[in-house]
Amino acid sequence: MKYKYILSAILVSSLFFISCNTADKKEALNAEQEKVTSDFNYNAEQFADIKILRYQVGGFDELNLQQKKYVYYLTQAGLAGRDIMYDQNYRHNLKIRRALENVYQNYTGDKNSEDWKKFETYLKRIWFANGIHHHYSNDKFKPEFSKEYFDTLLKETNTALAGEAYDVIFNDADAKKVNLNADKGLLKGSATNYYAPDITAEEAEAYYAKIKVDKNTPIEKGLNSKLIKENGKLTEKVWKSGSLYGASIDKIIFWLQMAKEVAENENQAKGLDLLIKYYQTGDLKIWDDYNIVWAKSTEGDIDYINGFIEVYNDPKGYKGSYESVVQIKDFDMSKKMEALAHNAQWFEDNSTLMEEHKKKDVVGVSYKTVNVAGEAGDASPSTPIGINLPNNNWIREKHGSKSVSLGNIIEAYNNAGGTDRLKEFAFDENEVKTEEEYGQLADKLHTALHEVIGHASGKINDGIGTPKETMKNYASTLEEARADLVGLYYLPDAKLVEIGISPNAEAIGKAAYDGYIRNGLLTQLIRLNFGDDIEEAHMRNRQLVSAWVFEKGAKDNVIEKVTRDGKTYFVIHDYTKLRALFGDLLKEIQRIKSEGDFKAGKALVETYGVKVDQAIHKEVLERNSQFKSAPYSGFINPVLVTETNDAGEITNIVVTQPESFTGQMLEYAKNYTTLPDEN
Ligand SMILES: [Zn+2]
Repeated sequence: MKYKYILSAILVSSLFFISCNTADKKEALNAEQEKVTSDFNYNAEQFADIKILRYQVGGFDELNLQQKKYVYYLTQAGLAGRDIMYDQNYRHNLKIRRALENVYQNYTGDKNSEDWKKFETYLKRIWFANGIHHHYSNDKFKPEFSKEYFDTLLKETNTALAGEAYDVIFNDADAKKVNLNADKGLLKGSATNYYAPDITAEEAEAYYAKIKVDKNTPIEKGLNSKLIKENGKLTEKVWKSGSLYGASIDKIIFWLQMAKEVAENENQAKGLDLLIKYYQTGDLKIWDDYNIVWAKSTEGDIDYINGFIEVYNDPKGYKGSYESVVQIKDFDMSKKMEALAHNAQWFEDNSTLMEEHKKKDVVGVSYKTVNVAGEAGDASPSTPIGINLPNNNWIREKHGSKSVSLGNIIEAYNNAGGTDRLKEFAFDENEVKTEEEYGQLADKLHTALHEVIGHASGKINDGIGTPKETMKNYASTLEEARADLVGLYYLPDAKLVEIGISPNAEAIGKAAYDGYIRNGLLTQLIRLNFGDDIEEAHMRNRQLVSAWVFEKGAKDNVIEKVTRDGKTYFVIHDYTKLRALFGDLLKEIQRIKSEGDFKAGKALVETYGVKVDQAIHKEVLERNSQFKSAPYSGFINPVLVTETNDAGEITNIVVTQPESFTGQMLEYAKNYTTLPDEN
């Protein structure tokens, strides 16, 4: 499963949720989305409803040459399959894309006209969506230029595009990529190319019902093939070497073989060997064998996914979309987490929990952040922010799974917004400056504390059920609140400086507290439609924590609600007392969980975490409306450039940034055209 940002109309401001309900994948998003921009230019461009961003590849320079080659070959393998995704999305996508690219590169007429700009936007939307349907809504794009204009372009550039592939650009056919409305026919109503157009959902279902699989170790049947009709009989055309998509797959195999030669360890090489065999044979049993090795392959600094993996694009849920992501361990974050895990007992012993609720032998939770080095297929330009694989359940249960956050992607999302929103909601210059200097680091430390220490802390009294049983629908909010509070309590602690992960206890504490309160009481409301209650567990937790300390600290003026020029701010006056309040709430929430006190848990969440102050919500939405930006974001990939000696051997590989989205898309078209127009 991958985790993607979902955007609703109100979030026209680079704010996002993730589709998963696995609580901990969302953690990396705990920060508000008003983070500061560093020197790196995250924003490449904007068109239609799309924003194109860039990401940096932290840690790449720390790799040795062999590791760099490993990353390079794996990213090449990923890109070699790029065309597959276009063809999977729609049978005419490659033909249309190539015709438009030909026009784009050869047209010599007026390129300042409105028509040309509309044509350009249409092509960019296709590049972004890997086809002529919107990546999120699944609706076919409507060109804003006329048929007559398009005809002129085709003619003047000698571009051939006719028949169905031409007509479909302007007519109403194949209007939906993935149709989930059964009345229209799940397959007949979907434009995706996983089934021949004359096959119905019922026929496909009957076909796959007949394929018997081992009950205990079922293969993912239908994952890597197109279902077609031959002489009236259903049969599968498997995506493998020598068959459908064979030309692409052979290129993928070539690069995987190169990667295998420079793998970091035996297990990685063994995995690649199986993946290659799978691509050669199309045997889904080998795909399972591969996934078992892959799931257990946790040594080494580099990891990847490559294959036909997610089935969201098939309304019947059998067929895997091609995708690839190559990742490097986040060395900086790993160091912080290791230092925390190493000291987990100290944090438990020194927390504000009641003695009987402290664990005697606490073990830090392991949490993995990686940095992406390259993406392709379904993972690009629209990218996941977390990956949890393999998908096959029996493998997950028997052999384990791997779950990672894509740290540099999340960082890029957070930074792309610039400082304008921060300046709107921060009380003064000082608050802005603290955030700019320390906000990002404070966030990282908070995430690390939350995950490694927070979720590991505390114990349930003997005879009391699990929080899921005792706290029911309030369990996740309370668990997230507890983990956040552990982080908040320790962020200003000198211990973090002592163990070498914080530069300045006071400054980090201030940045973290300012940011948390600002988000919990103001900015996170941007994500909510006016009039709605807060439903999502992390959002409930943040408001609960912020509203509780605001109320309890009121008599000492710990946090003051200030109105200036009709705008509301929350200003922290006493950071020491605030820390103590966080500690008090931590103790109370742990007590509730340890004792299974449902009534108190419910009261806490319902009183502080659910209802929204309507006047403030209205004001926040109004203040936020000035920050217009496209609702969907995606990324161009950094370019890995090889340096070679006279003998042609790679001597170094460096990361560079592409100049533009268009430039990269045309580069890809030039270098990774691996399939014919029709497959
Ligand atoms: Zn959490």
